[in-house]
Amino acid sequence: MRSSDRSAERRGLLIILSSPSGAGKSTLARRLMAWDETLSFSVSATTRAPRDGEEDGVHYHFVDVPGFKHMVEEGEMLEHAHVFGNFYGSPAAPVRKAIEEGRDVLFDVDWQGAQQISNSVLRDHVLSIFVLPPSIKELRRRLETRGQDSAETIGKRMEKSWDEISHWDGYDYVLVNDDLEVSFERLKTIIAAERLRRVQQPGLMGFVRGLQSEFEEVEG
Ligand code: ADP
Ligand code: 5GP
Repeated sequence: MRSSDRSAERRGLLIILSSPSGAGKSTLARRLMAWDETLSFSVSATTRAPRDGEEDGVHYHFVDVPGFKHMVEEGEMLEHAHVFGNFYGSPAAPVRKAIEEGRDVLFDVDWQGAQQISNSVLRDHVLSIFVLPPSIKELRRRLETRGQDSAETIGKRMEKSWDEISHWDGYDYVLVNDDLEVSFERLKTIIAAERLRRVQQPGLMGFVRGLQSEFEEVEG
């Protein structure tokens, strides 16, 4: 078997990015998606209203509260949570499909979602990364310059930021997103290494058996 055949048998990773709002996880997620077109983004369902420029089915599936509750009752969500007064959840079916096809799935979810996915049956294939801001002052500055939220919403997001940050130690990796280029390079390094985890390479067993046969034939 050639090495390219082995990598084709790669299992998909569930890559979770969390951070307090404004630390930069969406920016890093967008860059990752552009870096590797085989990555698939888990489009969450949410009951919050779309922001300017957000498209249904691309950034989120925008649903009403009864529609969201129906999805949860039908067992369609891998995880779900109440965040900033709205419901958010990750539909399970597209995730299972991608993983089975050996594609990684990227999640932008809060700590509650990260915890639920990390405790799910797919836990062995989870890579969780927490993004911290370099300072609280800079976090506020980023929320203000993003220009997407009212002063009231920014206030609410800042109030909630410590709650999110306090869960930093439940993640596999933590990135302090000071310089964006440095953070992105580190993120790519983490993903490249995690893809090589033994459990992510189901073809290794067969490959090692092949090595053993060859060993016995050539050396034995
Ligand atoms: P989040 O998804 O975590 O809420 P965003 O990715 O929307 O945050 O980033 C918030 C704002 O901060 C955006 O305007 C983004 O361009 C900016 N930003 C992200 N990372 C950095 C960085 N390392 N340095 C400076 N600005 C950044
Ligand atoms: P926003 O409204 O700014 O898009 O997202 C608000 C928060 O909800 C962010 O912390 C984001 O990570 C989180 N979030 C988005 N989608 C999901 C999801 O499907 N599940 C969970 N648990 N959190 C989500």
